[in-house]
Amino acid sequence: MKFDNNIYYTTLDLMPGVPLNIYALKGSEYSILIDTGIKGMRDQVLGLCEEAGKVDTVLITHVHADHIGCNVAVKEKTGAKFYAAGAIPWIENMETHYMEFCIPSEHLPDSQQQRDEILGLMDGPVNVDVVLAEGTVFRPGNGIELETVALPGHKLEEVGFLNKATGDLFTGDILLAMAAPFFHGFQTAQGFRNTMAKMKSMLDKGTVKRIFAAHHHPLDKEKSYEAIRITEKFLDEVRDNVIKESKGVDFPALWKNVCANMNKQLEFRGFAMLEVQVDELIAEGVLRKADGRIYKV
Ligand SMILES: [Zn+2]
Repeated sequence: MKFDNNIYYTTLDLMPGVPLNIYALKGSEYSILIDTGIKGMRDQVLGLCEEAGKVDTVLITHVHADHIGCNVAVKEKTGAKFYAAGAIPWIENMETHYMEFCIPSEHLPDSQQQRDEILGLMDGPVNVDVVLAEGTVFRPGNGIELETVALPGHKLEEVGFLNKATGDLFTGDILLAMAAPFFHGFQTAQGFRNTMAKMKSMLDKGTVKRIFAAHHHPLDKEKSYEAIRITEKFLDEVRDNVIKESKGVDFPALWKNVCANMNKQLEFRGFAMLEVQVDELIAEGVLRKADGRIYKV
C-alpha cells in the first residue's frame, strides 16, 4: 500500500495494541526495503517488494526476529544486498540468535515451545553484505536521501534511517511497544535516554518531521514527542522499580518482583534488561552487590 510520496508499507497486528509496519522507499533508480517483518508476513512483504519495484537494498534497523523474518524470501525474490549495523551472527546463524537472545543466563529455561515460537518468526539465515555505520547515505533517486542514524537503546547497535529530503525518520524499536505483555526492553538505559534526547533535538530543529516506527502508526511531530515521553517514563519506572526492589535479594528474586510490580511476564527479555539496569545502577553508585545480593547504597 502507498502511504504518500515514495513511501510504501504493509502492516499487521502482531499482538493487541502492537502493530508491525514494514516500509519501502521507492526511488527512480532502485527501491529500499526497511526490515523484513515476520515469516508469517511472507506474501505481504513480497507484495510490498513488488509494489515498490526494483528492491535492491534491504536495511535492517536491528536484528530481532520480527524485523528479519522474511530475509530469505526477500533475498530469493529480489537478490537485494543486505545491510545491518551489528549483531551480524543473529542474522547469519539462527541457533546463535536463539541461544544469545533467549538463553542469556542459566536461570532461564530452554523449551521446544520457546524455540518454535522465536525461531518460527524467521525464515532462515542470510549473509549480511555490508555492515552499516552512522552517516551512511543511500540515494535511490526521486530526491530521496536516506541517512543512517545510530539509535542505541533497545539494542546497542540499532539504527534508523532519515530521509533528509522530507524529514521522515524510519525506526525499528527505539520507540518501544509498550502494550506487549513482556518487557520490550533495552541493552543500555543511559544510552536509551541519550537517544531520546537526540531524537527530541532532531524534532526541535525540524530535521525530523515524522517518525515511522515499526510498532506505532505513523507519528506526526506532536505524536513523536508523546511517544518519546512515554518511552522516557517507562525508563524511569524500570529504574525506580529496580531501586525499590534492591532490598538485599538476589537477582532472580529482583527480576521476579519487578516483573510482578510492572505486570510483565517472567521471561528472557525482561531478565536481560533488568541485568543491564542493575549493572548501570551499580556503576552509578546507587546500588551495590554483596554475596550475590543487591542493596541500595
Ligand atoms: Zn526489537
